[in-house]
Amino acid sequence: MDSKQTPTKLTNFIRNTIDKDLLEGKHKSVITRFPPEPNGYLHIGHAKSICLNFGTASDYDGFCNLRFDDTNPSKEDIEYVNSIKKDVKWLGFSWNKEVKFSSNYFDIFYDCAIELIKKELACVCFLNTEKTREYRGTFKEAGRNSPHRNSTVEENLSLFAKMKAGEFKEGECVLRAKIDMSSSFMCMRDPTLYRIRFEAHHQTNDDWCIYPMYDFAHCLGDAIEGVTHSICTLEFQDNRRIYNWTLENLDAFNKPDRPHQYEFSRLNLEYATTSKRKLKLLVDNHHVSGWNDPRMPTISGLKRRGYTPASIRDFSERIGVSKVNSLTDMSILESSIRDDLNTSAPRAMAVLNPIKLVIENYPEGKIESLYAPLHPQNEDMGTREIFFSREIYIDKDDFKEVAPNNKFKRLAINKEVRLRNSYVIKASRFDTDLDGNITTIYCTYDPNTLGKNPTDGRKVKGVIHYVESSKSISAMFKIYDRLFLDPNPSKFDDMSSALNPSSLITKNGYVEKALQNAEVEKAYQFEREGYFCRDSESKGLVFNKTVGLRDTWSQ
Ligand code: ATP
Ligand code: MG
Repeated sequence: MDSKQTPTKLTNFIRNTIDKDLLEGKHKSVITRFPPEPNGYLHIGHAKSICLNFGTASDYDGFCNLRFDDTNPSKEDIEYVNSIKKDVKWLGFSWNKEVKFSSNYFDIFYDCAIELIKKELACVCFLNTEKTREYRGTFKEAGRNSPHRNSTVEENLSLFAKMKAGEFKEGECVLRAKIDMSSSFMCMRDPTLYRIRFEAHHQTNDDWCIYPMYDFAHCLGDAIEGVTHSICTLEFQDNRRIYNWTLENLDAFNKPDRPHQYEFSRLNLEYATTSKRKLKLLVDNHHVSGWNDPRMPTISGLKRRGYTPASIRDFSERIGVSKVNSLTDMSILESSIRDDLNTSAPRAMAVLNPIKLVIENYPEGKIESLYAPLHPQNEDMGTREIFFSREIYIDKDDFKEVAPNNKFKRLAINKEVRLRNSYVIKASRFDTDLDGNITTIYCTYDPNTLGKNPTDGRKVKGVIHYVESSKSISAMFKIYDRLFLDPNPSKFDDMSSALNPSSLITKNGYVEKALQNAEVEKAYQFEREGYFCRDSESKGLVFNKTVGLRDTWSQ
C-alpha cells in the first residue's frame, strides 16, 4: 500500500507555505527529509513526522529523503539504523534513492568549517565546560566573549587541523561559531560547531575524531540534498536562527532557494512516553520485554500488537499538524485501529476463560461441521469451518446460575441463548468442585434452530460464543492495559514509579481450529472479545489483544 492511498488530506500551515513557495516560484518541487538519530527505535511521534514528511512530499509529487542524523557515535548503533529503515518501509513509505547519512557529508562539513574560520566566523575555543557555561551568561545577562575569540585565522586553521588529527584530548577544545554573545537567543551565543570524540562510528569507523553538532550538520545536510522544506518539532524553533546563519554565511549555500526550517508541535500521547531515552530506560531496566513489547508506543511494538500501517497513517491524519503542544488522547489511536479492523479483520471464536458445557441430548461421538461467515457484512471474505458436538467450551462469564436482572442476555438455569453461528441451548444444571466453583454446565439443544429462529415463535435474545472441545486448540491470550497509571508519565524523573502493575494479564483458553496456523500479526476479531493477532515472538499459539470492540478508555 502506498502513502497516496491515505484519505483526502486536511490543509495545514506547512501546506499553505508550500503552496505559496510554489506559486511564487521560490521552489519548483518539494523535497523533504526524515532525519532520525539512530539511537533508539522509532515511536508513534516519529510516525507523525514520517507521515508528515513523506506524505507531504508525495502529495506534491516531490520526494522525501531518509537521512540518518548520525553525528554522535557514542549513542548510535547499526541495530537502530536497520530497525528504522524497516519501520519506515512498514509504514508504507519509500525514500528517495539510497538511504543517506549525515556522515556521508563529513568532508563537506569540514570544508564548511574551514570557510567559516577563514571568514573569521569560527574559532577553536579551549574554555572547559564550566567556564563555557560561565561565559555564556543567562537569559537576563549577556554573555562574554571567550578569550580565544581573538585568535588569528592562521592560528584557528592550524588548531582545527590538530583537532582533526587527534592531537587534543576529548573535551580539551571545540570549534565555535563567532556570532553574538549578547543575543537574546542562547543558541546564538557562539554555539559549538565541532567537538572531539574518540569513538568508532558505525559508518565511518575511525576516520574522524571530530564530530559536527546537530545545529551545524542538519542545515548543511538539508542544503546539500536540495531539501526545500525542513520540517521539525517546536523545540528547534530558536535553533532556526543558527540554521539560517550557517547557510547564509557559506557561499555555496546562500541562495534564494536554500532550505528553510518549519516547526510543528510534537506528538505527546496520553499514558505513554515519546522520548527515545525514556523508552530505552524501560527496555534496559526490563520493565518491558524489549523495544517491540506490545505495550510500547514504538512502531515495532504497535506492529506486534496488531496495529496496521493504514491505522497509524490514519491516526496521523486525524491528529493534524499545528504549533500547539498538547497531550493526545489514547482513544484517538485506538479508534483508528478499531475502524480499520472492523472492516478488514476476519471473525473467529476464542474462549478466554473456558468452562466446559455438555449438551446432554446431543449424540455421543458425533461431530458436526458448520460454516460461519468470515465477516458478517462482507460475504466476499468467504466462510470458515467450525465444529459442534456434545462437549463445548464457553466463557465462564457467560453463565450465571440465576440471571441477575432482565438485561442479562447470557446463559442461566432454565434460560435459552444462541450459540454464535449454531444452535439454541438451554441450561439445566451444573457441577461444582469442593470449593463451590462451577466446573461443568449441562444443557439441552434445540436441533431445529441452526441458522433459524425457533419454529414455535419463542424469542431467544442472547448470543454467546463457544468452541467445540475436541477440535479446539489451546492458546494463550495476552491482554494489555495502559503501561502507565499517570496520563503524563514523562513528568516523573523515575518513570518506573508510574508503571501500571497490571499492564499485562495472560489467560489460557481455546481458539477454533481454523486458527491453528494463524499467521503472525494478522488481525482477527474474536467475536464479543476484541481484536487479536498472533504474537510474532512466541513459539506456541499466543494472541495479543490489539484493542477492545468498544472504547472503554474515555468512559
Ligand atoms: P527523542 O527525544 O525521542 O529522542 P528526537 O527528536 O531526538 O526524539 P530524532 O531521531 O532526532 O528523535 O527524530 C527524528 C525526527 O522525528 C525529528 O525531525 C523529530 O522532530 C521528529 N520527532 C521526534 N519525536 C517526535 C514526536 N513526539 N512527535 C513528532 N515528531 C517527532
Ligand atoms: Mg533529535
